[in-house]
Amino acid sequence: MKVTEQLANATDTIISLEILPPTKGKSIESIYQGLDPLMEFKPSFVNVTYHRAEQIYKKREDGNFERVEIRKRPGTVGICAAIMNKYKVEAIPHLICGGFTKEETENALIDLHFLGVNNVLALRGDAASNEKFFSAHPHGHRYAEDLVKQIISLNKGKYMEDDIIDGVKTNFCIGVAGYPEKHFEAPNLDTDIEYLKRKIEFGADYVTTQMFFNNDHFYNYVQRCKEHGMNAPIIPGLKPLTGKRQLNVIPSIFNVEVPVELYKAIMDAKTEADSDQVGTEWLLYQCRELLKNKVPMLHFYTLGKPKVIYNVLKQLL
Ligand code: FAD
Repeated sequence: MKVTEQLANATDTIISLEILPPTKGKSIESIYQGLDPLMEFKPSFVNVTYHRAEQIYKKREDGNFERVEIRKRPGTVGICAAIMNKYKVEAIPHLICGGFTKEETENALIDLHFLGVNNVLALRGDAASNEKFFSAHPHGHRYAEDLVKQIISLNKGKYMEDDIIDGVKTNFCIGVAGYPEKHFEAPNLDTDIEYLKRKIEFGADYVTTQMFFNNDHFYNYVQRCKEHGMNAPIIPGLKPLTGKRQLNVIPSIFNVEVPVELYKAIMDAKTEADSDQVGTEWLLYQCRELLKNKVPMLHFYTLGKPKVIYNVLKQLL
């Protein structure tokens, strides 16, 4: 079922989970170990992230270095198929522009369509590891909105090759990313929202947000989006913050604020169990408040902490 259909038919709280493919060489069992207990809460969707290839320098036998591309976390499409097969739950692959030609994207969409995947999250992706700023593949897309346009074309049966007449129409429901505290490259929140609105106008169906630890950022964002004339569902993205290291890493990677109370509570935690408890209580509080404020759905970034998500959901649902 499409995300939009689930939202329209919802009679209870809908939840979705986001996972990363395992690093190359690791078994898919690690995914199952994280997801098995969470299936108790009947998630409607499992999102699977996509990770672009990285450039690294490898020493050759002659002592010189050569630049090679490696993909540390392959397998997004395969994991989606495995999850759909094992748990009978919808999987949502993330698609990124970075590193892909339009043709490769089209072929990936055809694969997904054949697999029965009807939902995708369309993203630009971040800069390659050897670049400071994002640069598009010469035959690829510059912004997520261009990827949205390509998916919409395919939904209309319009393929890149002009001589394909009456092409099969795909049926993708398209999610896009939104940033309650603005995307780090955007000059201000209003400009960022205007670009988000374009993604919706080009055909995206809903927005999933970056994580936030202060719900006021989310409420403000939803309000500002409305003021910009945007009415698509906005799904809050939620992640537990559980360790001292994350206090610096998360704000710098994701450009999000850590509220003072949460910062202090994590700093005061003596053990990992204590900080897990702080993260659990904070996330539970966020979820309860969001549900009171009638959010359409809760999206959880499980990233390495499925146990904390489990404890939150056990108390929430
Ligand atoms: P865009 O919507 O293209 O926006 C990027 C920047 O350009 C913004 O500052 C925006 O304001 C600006 N902009 C947009 N359109 C235009 C335009 N037409 N002209 C000028 N400026 C414009 N990354 C991954 O690599 N893999 C993942 O699986 C992944 N999953 C994610 C899931 C969620 C829910 C979120 C919130 C993010 C995810 N990301 C993922 C990170 C994302 O790829 C990065 O944040 C990336 O830097 C921006 O992607 P975007 O789709 O928001 O880009």
